[in-house]
Amino acid sequence: MSGVDGGERTAQAGGPLDDPQVANAQVTHVTQRPLGVLAALPQELGDLIEAMRAESGVRTVIHGRRDYHVGTVHGVPCVVTLARVGKVAAAATVSALIHAFDVEAVVFTGVAGGVGEQVRVGDIVVANALLQHDLDASPLFPRFEVPLLGMSRFAADAALAAQLAQACERFIADEGAASAARFGTREARVHRGLIISGDQFVASAAGVRALRDALPDALAVEMEGAAIAQVCHEYGVPCAVVRTISDTADDHAPASFVSFLTEIAGTYSNAILTRFLKARGER
Ligand code: SAH
Repeated sequence: MSGVDGGERTAQAGGPLDDPQVANAQVTHVTQRPLGVLAALPQELGDLIEAMRAESGVRTVIHGRRDYHVGTVHGVPCVVTLARVGKVAAAATVSALIHAFDVEAVVFTGVAGGVGEQVRVGDIVVANALLQHDLDASPLFPRFEVPLLGMSRFAADAALAAQLAQACERFIADEGAASAARFGTREARVHRGLIISGDQFVASAAGVRALRDALPDALAVEMEGAAIAQVCHEYGVPCAVVRTISDTADDHAPASFVSFLTEIAGTYSNAILTRFLKARGER
């Protein structure tokens, strides 16, 4: 696969790799494929790009009106970018990460509205599966099913999701009490399960109730994750999504979302991504 930063891959079979000695010489030039790290909004990335700048320097590639920041964080080669808001934006961005940057896997970080009864502001949800709650081609196809793909739920990569959840648990063990006191939230809990995505900011008691009725196991609602999971599924790229709960998708959601995004989201992202990337860098 040729990438924007291509030219460092070994030749494909049928070329010089047929000669084992040449193959060995070339293998040393194989670079580790980067991890794609994305969020919708800049606050959700925390200081990740600054951390990259300090560690390796940043090469920024502009592609499809987005900035892709290429470098290394905690020893992990990464391409960091902003998807912006909504399913189309997210699908386009992750498609570029796969095709132009040849990412090995994709991690999405951001905020979401809590939908599950136990999910409160300041909690963290790591997706096991993702679904598009606004996709409805019934009666031609079952509600929520992606037509012609025959699927409604897209699994997150189990290993990647487990590593993200471990990073979240470590963050809470290290800093949970202090961060709860600082932000006036309860001590965060990590939930794992279904995240649902749609092109709506859900901000009413009726809206969140309708989602609970239709999808009783949904833990959180946001606007990008399931689109990313679908594209990653179609291209066989592992993906995982972590969301901090900024609001509970009810009438208080707009105010709660804005204050969480500006005051807290970056701190959570830094704390989670630092632990996740450090552990990945030590693999
Ligand atoms: N222009 C706004 C966009 C915010 S949309 C701004 O920049 O402030 C809300 C974003 O947060 C989306 O990316 C979505 O994934 C997530 N989100 C948080 N709470 C949500 C909710 N209650 N419903 C849907 N998405 C939510």
